[in-house]
Amino acid sequence: MILVSACLLGLSCRYDGGHNLCPALLGPAAAGLCLPVCPEQLGGLPTPRPAAEIVGGSGQDVLAGRAKILAADGLDLTPAFLGGVRQTLALVRAIPIAAAVLKARSPTCGVGRIYDGSFTRVVKDGDGVAAAALAEKGIPLYTEEDLTAEELQKILALGAGNC
Ligand code: SF4
Repeated sequence: MILVSACLLGLSCRYDGGHNLCPALLGPAAAGLCLPVCPEQLGGLPTPRPAAEIVGGSGQDVLAGRAKILAADGLDLTPAFLGGVRQTLALVRAIPIAAAVLKARSPTCGVGRIYDGSFTRVVKDGDGVAAAALAEKGIPLYTEEDLTAEELQKILALGAGNC
């Protein structure tokens, strides 16, 4: 099974009520290979909700208590985001996950690059907080921007292997 950011499958769970449909994932989803997850909603955040970014570090730093996830007005949303991480990890304990395809640059789902906390669309190195937690579990992470045909076949082979 492949864990997929729910917004990539067209679910309107994005902070502004929109989605980030990635058509390449619809076939694998129809074949039952994808588990859609929105950690921010699982953390109890509403949709729509304030845009938020990691300030003072990366997702790894949030997990370690060295950075926070703030809304643009300074509201500290870290507890809700961490709640979503805990729920996501509960899913991973219940359902074997071979890989994850996550939304690029999100403070929750971003892999390798995330928005820098300035709310100006500038990016910095680091994972989102849920991505960081999944990486700690040894789950291979990809974003929708990695999905060349060849890469998608590789990910699907991983996912089919543990269904
Ligand atoms: Fe939810 Fe992740 Fe998509 Fe944000 S990027 S809407 S947390 S699934």
